Amino acid sequence: MPDHETPKLLPLVMEEPRGRKKPPRHLADLTTAERKELLEEKGLPGFRAKQLSTHYFARLVDDPEQMTDLPAGQRAELVEALLPGLMTPLRTMEADKGTTVKTLWRLFDGALVESVLMRYPDRATMCVSSQAGCGMACPFCATGQSGLQRNMSTAEIVEQVLAGARALARGEVPGGPTRVSNVVFMGMGEPLANYKAVVGAVRRLTDPTPDGLGMSARGVTVSTVGLVPRIKQLATEGVPVTLALSLHAPDDELRNELVPINTRFSVAETVEAAFEYAETTKRRVSIEYAMMRGINDQAWRADLLADVLYATGADWGWVHVNLIPLNPTPGSKWTASDPADEREFVRRLEARGIPTTVRDTRGSDIDGACGQLAATE
Ligand code: SAH
Repeated sequence: MPDHETPKLLPLVMEEPRGRKKPPRHLADLTTAERKELLEEKGLPGFRAKQLSTHYFARLVDDPEQMTDLPAGQRAELVEALLPGLMTPLRTMEADKGTTVKTLWRLFDGALVESVLMRYPDRATMCVSSQAGCGMACPFCATGQSGLQRNMSTAEIVEQVLAGARALARGEVPGGPTRVSNVVFMGMGEPLANYKAVVGAVRRLTDPTPDGLGMSARGVTVSTVGLVPRIKQLATEGVPVTLALSLHAPDDELRNELVPINTRFSVAETVEAAFEYAETTKRRVSIEYAMMRGINDQAWRADLLADVLYATGADWGWVHVNLIPLNPTPGSKWTASDPADEREFVRRLEARGIPTTVRDTRGSDIDGACGQLAATE
């Protein structure tokens, strides 16, 4: 984005305070060339960068003892330079017979974040955090209640996925060894308010091994409240990830309340940006809509939602709607919709030709479902 556009976003991106300590630099923060340069700056052989990358991204090794192709005398130095420890698991909670695992992590500066691994018969999804806390203040979301602590680094984001990949590869999750097939940026934080680090993480996840994890961009979903300039920018990155837009209301009056950033970017502007994203990337956008009883679940709002999605003049199936039954959060005055109202909402959207699904509420019994991540000890 050109610099002159930055001021518009400043209040929500929040400059990191000067002099604050940065997370340790890790190979996942760096391009392949930068990894090599960094070793050479430290007087270490540059070609070792590739070996370290192979251990990390291809072999999923995290124990230096197993990196036997590195000279024993240099191993510690090499590992410290490119594979420093980034986070410590404080607690894991399991549901669905161990196929849903929520992990609470402590970062180097004490910041706490959570990630959730969800294994299904046909795929394994890692839901990752991109910020400690969140500055978007959506009143129905637990993460939004305590504000933003800080942005996470690219490597801190990637390491959540790698932790899941290692657990799956080692057969620690019931169902036999497997890989991470999907990554969703639906944990704590607003990914597009930490744009650079998030795009860096997307690149690391999709770069071929051993430069990155070698995932397909199709398998990666970035979910946003709708930071319009950032959505436009993301469309130009050449990594066609799936975009999910947390809309939750089709009218500005209600959306201003549910997703406060709407006072800056209106429903019409936001939906238009999402449509342009679909046009550019040829990826169907997902509209997320948390169903709140008596708040946003009226039949007329389903009709209005269809109108809003058609207002783009789209002539192809650019969008689908994913309804999320509202998950309970502490102190929230709202509850999930009546199932009959939910069915009617679905029926009205489908009658207008909009594919609509209802998300399962995996992990809600361990406060690991959408909007429940609060990262408290
Ligand atoms: N900040 C990004 C990423 C978070 S994704 C975003 O808002 O898109 C988490 C998804 O769960 C978002 O769609 C969010 O609006 C939704 N959500 C938040 N609180 C929820 C709750 N209590 N019940 C159901 N969904 C919720």
